[in-house]
Amino acid sequence: MKKYSLLLLMSACLSSAFGQADTTRHVPGKTDTTLHAPVKADTSMHISGKADTSLQATAKKDTIICTSIANNGKVWAAIYQQRAAEYKALCFQAYNMARLRVDMIWTHYHMKPYAIVTDLDETLLDNSPYNAKRALNNLDYDAETWKQWTAQAVCDTVPGAPSFLKYAASKGITIFYITNRAEDEREGTLKNLKLYGLPNADNAHLLLKKNTLSKEARRQDVLKTHIIILLCGDNLADFDALYDGTPSEENRMVTTQKLMTQFGSRYIIIPNPSYDDWEKALFNYQKLSNAEKDSIIKAKVKVAD
Ligand SMILES: [Mg+2]
Repeated sequence: MKKYSLLLLMSACLSSAFGQADTTRHVPGKTDTTLHAPVKADTSMHISGKADTSLQATAKKDTIICTSIANNGKVWAAIYQQRAAEYKALCFQAYNMARLRVDMIWTHYHMKPYAIVTDLDETLLDNSPYNAKRALNNLDYDAETWKQWTAQAVCDTVPGAPSFLKYAASKGITIFYITNRAEDEREGTLKNLKLYGLPNADNAHLLLKKNTLSKEARRQDVLKTHIIILLCGDNLADFDALYDGTPSEENRMVTTQKLMTQFGSRYIIIPNPSYDDWEKALFNYQKLSNAEKDSIIKAKVKVAD
């Protein structure tokens, strides 16, 4: 009898031990506690040091671990751009719509030749490796390293863009590349476009930034000789002068509401969660430290109760 009681007691202890382990995994409170542990590790990462060391084993030598919400976001955006089939599908969706619009609009008879105006970066060319490298090093974009990147002429293309532009060219439509890349990026940019056999990849059709970020004057130049049937971009200022200057987030929202019917008809937009005017407007067009950016993000983001 004594032996039997002892076995029961042992069995109870064992089941209680295993039970407790299971419970820890499934009881929300407990699980939360263990999930919060990495937050501590994150905090230590902000003090540039110990947490970095263990992670550097898998990171490249010249990289450190990013330490801001904004830069972590840019790494996340880059991996989305590079790895998510959903991103690819969104780009296909945009360029399929563009093709439909060309088919709807195109006729044999028109007063001036037809043109499509397209932006380059994150509309046709994929710069996510550059963005990821800067963000992983906890650095902002800067002109010098950007130009080193574009001079390499190694950008991949945005899914669906080259085949759409070639399709439009096959219909006799001229492509104009209106970009805010600088004049000293001309050679590398043309080399990159030619790598993919893109139509009208020449000096006459590559309209780089001159004195202003606004693309309006360059669009007007194209309109002197052509009818612009479509504009492709990832940034709203690629489409309309209403987005020029430094409009607030609210102003950009109001303008977008006003132009609602243009999207998917005359304006074809590609997602860019990494950078450009939406980001500048978020930070009120100010040059800020990572800590300042983080505090704005925390103040503005909607968080569930
Ligand atoms: Mg762009």
